Formats: sequence, structure tokens, C-alpha cells
Amino acid sequence: MAGDDGHDHVNDAALVAKISQVLLSQACQRIDFRWGKLHVTAKAYRAVVLALSDSRIDIFEADGAEHTLDPNVGASYIGNPESIIIRPHLNAHTALNQRALVHEATHAVQDDQLNGEWVWRLDDEATSYIAEWLFVIHASPNPDHLISKPDPDDPIEVIAVEIARALADKPGASPDPAAMRRLGDAIFHDPTYSVTMALHPWIRDDGVTKPDFP
Ligand SMILES: [Zn+2]
Repeated sequence: MAGDDGHDHVNDAALVAKISQVLLSQACQRIDFRWGKLHVTAKAYRAVVLALSDSRIDIFEADGAEHTLDPNVGASYIGNPESIIIRPHLNAHTALNQRALVHEATHAVQDDQLNGEWVWRLDDEATSYIAEWLFVIHASPNPDHLISKPDPDDPIEVIAVEIARALADKPGASPDPAAMRRLGDAIFHDPTYSVTMALHPWIRDDGVTKPDFP
């Protein structure tokens, strides 16, 4: 049945479960850090799970037509209309794909919490990378042997894991601003991001639709 906004997509329960199991995992639920008005917490990810479950955030598998993904990307978040695009048959049991899902869910948290705010796009990317690496640190039985290793040739991963390590045992803390600037520079100079960042350095999130019930 179509809603009054013409929004009639209902998420596939198996896809909701696939993403939710990562967001509700202990490693993701231990994430707790702030940056400006953003506060990335267990509760914030649970709000994303509810929005996925209610189809307020849609989930689509990439089909190469209406819903596309860049090559080598497992998932992507789109703010308008709110949706997560995932690779078909994405294996949500690999650390690499779990990182991708936490990263994209953090963009959904930003959309939810920073509704109506103009934010620096580099900050949105930086905080998603930090969340992704906090997840990896929490998911690793031995933090000296991470279950997923940062690529030493990718400054984004190297700096993001360094910031995440500094935050891991300080719930509610904020990253060091100088380290955030270095991470922002690394993102800006990455060819994946540089064009978008230069053309649209600021974005305004428009929120995630609230549930019909309180
Ligand atoms: Zn991102």
C-alpha cells in the first residue's frame, strides 16, 4: 500500500536483518564519540535500525540501473530519498563489508542528527571513517592485531585508525582537532572525493522521516 507521500517501498526483511546484525553487534554498539553536534552512539545506530525496519530508510541492492554503486564499494548511503544501496549478496560476515555498513550507517546517523544544519562534507566523511575503525578496534579480540588492517598506503585509513585508537577507551570524547584536519586533508586529496569536496564542500542534511507512532 502506498503511503500519502507515494512512498511504497517496503524493505526486504532479510536485508534489514543483514544490516541490523552489524549495527546491533557489541562492537558497533560500543561506538561513542562526538564531533560538533554529532554524537555517534549505540542509540544512534539503533535509531537507524528502526528506520530500516520501518522502511523510512530504504534498502536496495545495486542493480546497475536505478540503484548503482561505484566499483569496489560494498554499500552507499543516499540522503534524499533516504536509502542504503548494497552490493547484491553482500557477505555481511566479512570485516571489510561490516566496516562498509558501519560507515554508511554513520552517514544515516548524520542525516538524522544534523537535520537542517549546514555541515562540512569532509567532517561527514571523517566521522564515518572514525566510526568504521572504532568498530574494527572493538571487534578485534586483540587490538594489536586488528581483524581488518588499515592499508598503509592509504592515508585516510592510517589517520582514521590512529584517531579511533585515541577515542576507543574514552566514551563520549571528541577527536583531536589537529588530527581531524589531517584526516580531512587526506580525504580531500583522495581522488574518490576531491571533485565532490571541491564543488560541494558544504551539505545540508534533511533528516530521516520520523516514525508514525511515538
Ligand atoms: Zn562516506
